[in-house]
Amino acid sequence: MLSISPETVIRGNDAWEKALPQIVNLTKSPLILGRSLKTNDIRNKIFSDLKNQDLNVNTANLQFDCCYEDISKIKNIILNKNHDSVIAAGGGKVLDSGKYIAECLNIPCITIPLSASTCAGWTALSNIYTKNGQFIKDVSLKSCPKLLVYDHQFIQTAPSRTLASGIADALAKWYESSITSSTVDDGLVQQAIQISRVLRDQLLIDGEKAFKAQFENNSSWRNTIEACGLTAGLVGGIGGEKCRTAAAHAIHNAITQIITPNKFLHGEIVGVGLLLQLRLEEIKNNNKLAELSIKQLLVLMKELKLPTTISELGINVFENQYLEKIADFSCRDKSEIHFLPFKITREDIIEVIADFEQPKIKI
Ligand SMILES: [Zn+2]
Repeated sequence: MLSISPETVIRGNDAWEKALPQIVNLTKSPLILGRSLKTNDIRNKIFSDLKNQDLNVNTANLQFDCCYEDISKIKNIILNKNHDSVIAAGGGKVLDSGKYIAECLNIPCITIPLSASTCAGWTALSNIYTKNGQFIKDVSLKSCPKLLVYDHQFIQTAPSRTLASGIADALAKWYESSITSSTVDDGLVQQAIQISRVLRDQLLIDGEKAFKAQFENNSSWRNTIEACGLTAGLVGGIGGEKCRTAAAHAIHNAITQIITPNKFLHGEIVGVGLLLQLRLEEIKNNNKLAELSIKQLLVLMKELKLPTTISELGINVFENQYLEKIADFSCRDKSEIHFLPFKITREDIIEVIADFEQPKIKI
């Protein structure tokens, strides 16, 4: 079964206003879910607009992360107050929590991404973390959200750092799906990979312009935010699990085991994982193009002010056995790293990361 896309997607500058009548038809008592104080103003607007439509609306915030503690707390609020839908308005953690909770309670989820940092507003997937932000697992959901409201004016208020993070996460789609799935004899999967290639090309053309012109709302910016928040989700929807992740996300998941909670965004860590994946391809699979890809990505990532090494994520891998911990988690049984078409051992990861980090560590 494929969960390809949300039932309805409303996008553009006035998406929220256009979505209002649909939301009124869909729900009488929604719970608005958020997290960051920085996006409170937008959730307050959503709240008062829904209140003006005579809906019985309430708000709740995640305290930590998309974690079981917060999930059960929010579930109880919904059950006690008889809410009939979740409106998740925020970044990836909020969107993932909203989708997961709505599925558990069998009520519709409406996603309103407030940045272009991930494609979580689109997908039928929730990544579950500990309350300290350590990755536990991803959960496939039965369906994508009922309604996705991709309001450009909302997204324009997000810090440019979130856009850079979204670009890194969306770029990973091509590098991960093409290596894991290029030999899969399934037309739909092949078409998904080609969409991710066009997506990458668009980001290479428009990403930097978009990052530098966030407040202009020009076509580069619009194309880029929609690439990150919509098309990236579509690739996973059509291509399925193997089109979503490989080593870049496996290394991300491993790095979250030791990183300071919530200090770095998902895509910022995935970007570092992506460079390491390409290095693995170069060294362990003799892929000559991987070295060129690293050079090309490094130029863009520097322009986007993205971290490019684990040390830039605030971790010295040569301390506290961090290198071994990252290698062990990356290569654990259920890891997506095993989707790679060549064998990877923990020693390979240690070798590649040590080599990648060594010149940048100041002794
Ligand atoms: Zn991701």
